[in-house]
Amino acid sequence: MSEVLKSAVPAAQVAAERDDVSERVRGIIADIRDRGDAAVRDYSTKFDSWSPERFRLSAGEIERIVARVPGQVLDDIRFVQDQVRTFAGHQRESLREFEVETLPGVHLGQKHVPVSAAGAYVPGGRYPLTASAHMTIVTAKVAGVPRVAACTPPIRGEIPEATVAAMHLAGADEIYLLGGVQAVAALAVGTETIGGVDLLAGPGNAYVAEAKRQLFGEVGIDLFAGPTEVLIVADHTADPFVVAVDLLSQAEHGPDSPAVLITTSAALGREVLGHVEALLPGMPTRDFAGPAWRDHGEIHVVGSVDEAFALADSYAAEHVQVLTEQPRQALEKMHDYGALFLGPGTCVSYGDKVIGTNHVLPTRGAARYTGGLWVGKYLKTVTYQEVTNSESSVRLGEVCGRAARVELFEGHARSGDVRAAEFRRGELSW
Ligand code: NAD
Repeated sequence: MSEVLKSAVPAAQVAAERDDVSERVRGIIADIRDRGDAAVRDYSTKFDSWSPERFRLSAGEIERIVARVPGQVLDDIRFVQDQVRTFAGHQRESLREFEVETLPGVHLGQKHVPVSAAGAYVPGGRYPLTASAHMTIVTAKVAGVPRVAACTPPIRGEIPEATVAAMHLAGADEIYLLGGVQAVAALAVGTETIGGVDLLAGPGNAYVAEAKRQLFGEVGIDLFAGPTEVLIVADHTADPFVVAVDLLSQAEHGPDSPAVLITTSAALGREVLGHVEALLPGMPTRDFAGPAWRDHGEIHVVGSVDEAFALADSYAAEHVQVLTEQPRQALEKMHDYGALFLGPGTCVSYGDKVIGTNHVLPTRGAARYTGGLWVGKYLKTVTYQEVTNSESSVRLGEVCGRAARVELFEGHARSGDVRAAEFRRGELSW
C-alpha cells in the first residue's frame, strides 16, 4: 500500500535546469583557463559585485576582521570546531597503516599520505555558511594537509566576518574572498595570484558542485556536495509539528533543495502538510523554503517501516532523519544515505551546525557510492613493496615472466626474467 500526499515537479524539468547550469559552468571554466585573474575578476564583479584590489586577505585584514566578531560568536565557533576536530581525530586514528610479509622476505605496506594542497570552498551566496569552514578546513588540518587555501564569497557586497574568523581559527593558510565557479576554477587550474591545489573540497550550490564535477581529474574532489536534501522517515510516534519544522529547516537552504517525508501514518502525513503550509508564510527565509517545498517537497505514505526504509534508500538522500519507534533499526536496514539522524533528540540542524560529524555530504544520488567529507578524503592511501629474499624474487620473477607473456607484454616479462636469473645465478642474462 502506498499513497502520495504531495509530489515534486517532473524530473524532466529538473534535468533541463541542470543542463543549463552545466553549459554556463563550462563557459566560465574555459574563460578562466584562458584569461586567469582577469576572468576571475570579471565573474566576481558580475555575480557578487565584488572586485577588490586583491581577493586574498592579508594577515592584517584577517586580524581586523576577527577583532570585530563578537566574543560569543568566537566562543561558539571554537566549541563547534572542537567537536569537529575530536570526531575527525577519531577518524584519523581509525586509519591503520600496516606492513605485512606475504611470502618470505616479501614486504607489502600501506600508508595514508595527505595531499600537499587542498582548496576549501565555504559557501556564502545566500547565507554565510560559517560551519562549512569547520567541516572543510579543520578536517583537512587533522588529516595533515600542509597548505589549505580557503575561499568564500562576499554576501551582497559585505565581508562575512564570522566566516572569515572561522576560516582563520580552523587553520586556513590562505583566505580568499571569492565565490562560485570562479573560486573553484581558480583553485583548480591556478591563476597569476591564486596557486592551484591538488584537491577541492566543500559544498556549494548547483554551479559550485557542477564546477567541481567538471574539473575532477585535473584536480581531485571530495565528492558531489550540491544543494541540500532532507528525507524524513516517520511513523505514528513522530510529532507532526517537529517533522514540519525539520523539513522546512532544510528547504530554506535554497529553492532547489528537496524535502521528502516518508511515513507509515497517513494522518501524520496530512498533519505535516498542514503545518508546513501554515509555517511557511511566517518564515523569514520563505523565499527559498517556499519554492523548494512547492517544487521539490514530497510526502509518501507506505505500509510499513521496512517499506519506508526501502523507499528512502532509493532516494540515496544526503540527510535521513528517522523518527520512528525504533530509530536504530535504520542502521541495519538502510545503506544509501549521506548521514543518519536517529530519534527526536537530534536533527539535521545539529549535524549542519554543532554536533561534530561532517556536514559536507553527498547529494543527487551520490550517496549510492560515497559517504561524506572525512579525514580520509584528504589522504591518499598508497602502497609500497620490498623483496629481501632471493628465493622469493626468483619465484616472483618466474611467475611474472609467464603471466606477462600471456598478456603479450614481453618487456614486463623480461623485468621478471632478469630478476629470476640474477637472484638464481648471481648474473644478468636472458
Ligand atoms: P555558494 O557559495 O555555493 O554560491 C554562491 C556563488 O554562486 C556566488 O559566489 C556566485 O558566483 C555563484 N552564482 C550565483 N548565480 C550564478 C549564476 N547564475 N551563474 C554562475 N554562478 C552563479 O552559496 P549559495 O548559493 O548560498 O549555495 C550554498 C549551497 O550549498 C546551497 O545549495 C546548500 O544547500 C548547499 N550546501 C550543501 C551541503 C552539502 O553537504 N551537500 C552542505 C551545506 C550547504
